[in-house]
Amino acid sequence: RDSSFERQAPEADAEELARRHLVQPWPYAGSIGSEARGLIGSGDGIYVTDGEGRRLIDGPAGMWCVNAGHRREELAGVMYEQAMRLSYNTPWYTMNEPSAVLAERIAAHAPGDLSHVFFTTGGSSAVESALRFMQFYNNVRGWPEKKLLLSRGGAYHGSTYLSASLNGRPRDRDWMDVADGLVVKLSSPDPFRRPEGMTVEAFADQLVDEFAETVARIGADKIGAFVGEPVQASGGVIVPPPGYLPRIREICRDNDILYVSDEVVTGFGRLGEIFASQDVFGIDPDIITFAKGVTSGYFPLGGMLVSERLLADLRRSNHPDAMYAHGLTYTSHPVGCAVALANLDLLEGGILDHARAVAPYFQERLKTLEELPLVGEVRGVGLMACVECVADRESNDPLKLDYEVGKRIDAHCHSLGLLVRPLIHMCVMSPPLIISRSQIDDMVAILREGISRTMDDLATEGVWQG
Ligand code: PLP
Repeated sequence: RDSSFERQAPEADAEELARRHLVQPWPYAGSIGSEARGLIGSGDGIYVTDGEGRRLIDGPAGMWCVNAGHRREELAGVMYEQAMRLSYNTPWYTMNEPSAVLAERIAAHAPGDLSHVFFTTGGSSAVESALRFMQFYNNVRGWPEKKLLLSRGGAYHGSTYLSASLNGRPRDRDWMDVADGLVVKLSSPDPFRRPEGMTVEAFADQLVDEFAETVARIGADKIGAFVGEPVQASGGVIVPPPGYLPRIREICRDNDILYVSDEVVTGFGRLGEIFASQDVFGIDPDIITFAKGVTSGYFPLGGMLVSERLLADLRRSNHPDAMYAHGLTYTSHPVGCAVALANLDLLEGGILDHARAVAPYFQERLKTLEELPLVGEVRGVGLMACVECVADRESNDPLKLDYEVGKRIDAHCHSLGLLVRPLIHMCVMSPPLIISRSQIDDMVAILREGISRTMDDLATEGVWQG
């Protein structure tokens, strides 16, 4: 390509420019707009290279999204070609071919009668679109009171106002306003934190009872939708108890409550399938939201898959002219849809098979870290896992120690060649799906060493006894 298009050299290095001009996600008030984060310069396969030229395994695959791996010629090439053919068209008055073809291909993988796709710019906008769709659907059906949303502790559904109102992690909400009046919170289905002495089966019963009682107490005529991740991802890879999700699905069906399965993380291969709702958990939702892996992170695209039944209800309603007044400039973006098609080719052409084949090994190797006294539990499914560290509960300030634990492990691992995504005291591992067995060995060896060094540091400083 023509070198005259090369950018001029910046006046300062990236860290300095970021400190001066960049607002980054989830900043603290004390450092907002004045912070530099670790620079990543390039990526290739499962690796990224940092500002010092150090090669690191991309443990979280970016943000659970670089499923096909970095630097895929096939994906980059398709984006170039599509941009040269048609870089944009207005979805209000026109349409493009990649979006129609992609909708058909995605629908072919969907459970039940999920036949249509509305494309968005990412996960938050996908969830937001689903929630506004439910509101529209119930308005048109003559149920304007049936709008409450059920979500759970530990949930993460996005950073737009309504999607964020569903979030269940306390620290996400402390300083932010949310539409609390619209949302009812239920317990996180976290078997690790179940009441002491309770079996996992009894815990599942308790969760289902809580759901049924909540519906009975509030009234099904007030509840529009339940929104849930099949596996709570950012909540710490919470794999729900067996059988729990299908039972919730049935309660929703019996009470005319839409079941929205948020597959922003679990979709597009993370659990070895395009969608995990049916293939892994045996549920057929009314709506599935997706993003991230749909383009392997090469383009900001998401969407919601919606049931034919709901669309048919709208078409034959008494209000055929009522408007779903919802759309985004970048709905059905041709470049995003084209790269998603090429990404689907890669997933169907071997990556899904590979992910299914290596997942047991990935889980088994990570599970060995439970031998370390700082590790409370290693859990996961498919190619997503969480190593939850448990610092000394007797200490005066366990949370402070927990915060430090994640950061310290991350720092050690970084120097050893692994990017970790610390969530307080939890290390989430969700590498690109192309990771090989020997690369899994490398990843686990580094994580083991990082945790061991952290234990040594904490013991030396006398803040943790093990
Ligand atoms: N839903 C889930 C389950 C997610 O994990 C995320 C992001 O991590 C979102 C929604 C929001 O997606 P985005 O950040 O693309 O807006």
